Amino acid sequence: MPPRRRATRLPETPERRRTFGARLRAWYRKHHRDLPWRRTRDPYHVLISELMLQQTQVSRVVEYYEAFLTRFPTLATLAKAPRKAVLESWEGLGYYARARNLHALARTVAPDGEPNSAIPADPDALRALPGIGAYTAGAVASFAYERRAALVDTNVARVLGRVFLPGIDVKKGAGHRAVWALAERLLPRTGKAVWVHNQALMELGALVCTARVMRCGECPVRAVCATYASGQSSVANAPRGARSRTPREGTDPISRTRAASRARTTA
Ligand code: SF4
Repeated sequence: MPPRRRATRLPETPERRRTFGARLRAWYRKHHRDLPWRRTRDPYHVLISELMLQQTQVSRVVEYYEAFLTRFPTLATLAKAPRKAVLESWEGLGYYARARNLHALARTVAPDGEPNSAIPADPDALRALPGIGAYTAGAVASFAYERRAALVDTNVARVLGRVFLPGIDVKKGAGHRAVWALAERLLPRTGKAVWVHNQALMELGALVCTARVMRCGECPVRAVCATYASGQSSVANAPRGARSRTPREGTDPISRTRAASRARTTA
């Protein structure tokens, strides 16, 4: 067995943060997957996609996302629908609490089914809605409204942990708070750039720096990555039989995301 190497702590300088962000976003522009929820800024559509993606494969979500929006094209139609109909449309996706929360959210935002009821843009207001945690609030604020909002799910925590916080458990406690604070510091200045930045973080965690495999040879941020610098990263870290691509996922509670991480396999 090869000797264990110590984690390398590189200083988190503004220059390193800038290089990380610039390389990440340039990579995303070239390599991202074309997914339907990336072609819209409609808050309702973004919300549906984010809730569906929490526990489900991307390829499966594509199929359900379109069908769900055909049946419930607006938040108002969803609010007016009986819960049974909403659950029927969710059938096969699993984790039905998501559908129940979504329906409750629609009825909170549009209690009488008013057509002009708007999903809030502010992350704190979003977090007050049923089923919305810190990750989903950041995702809706950023992906629908292009707000300068951070988001951290398991994928993002893993990527940022490997690049900037090696040796720290970013899944809970102080490490989790540290990774959220880091995600805030890394945000670009404008909402448009933040949209790309957040999508790119998720995409890098889904396609390159996955839970099972670190594809450092094709990683755009390896020049600033502490794990890469320490020599700990390698495809050899992958367990035998690891799939070539692992999930993008984005559940709010980090503790629930291992299963989700495995579930959010790429199409
Ligand atoms: S260089 Fe390797 S460990 Fe670092 S972020 Fe990229 S894939 Fe992950």
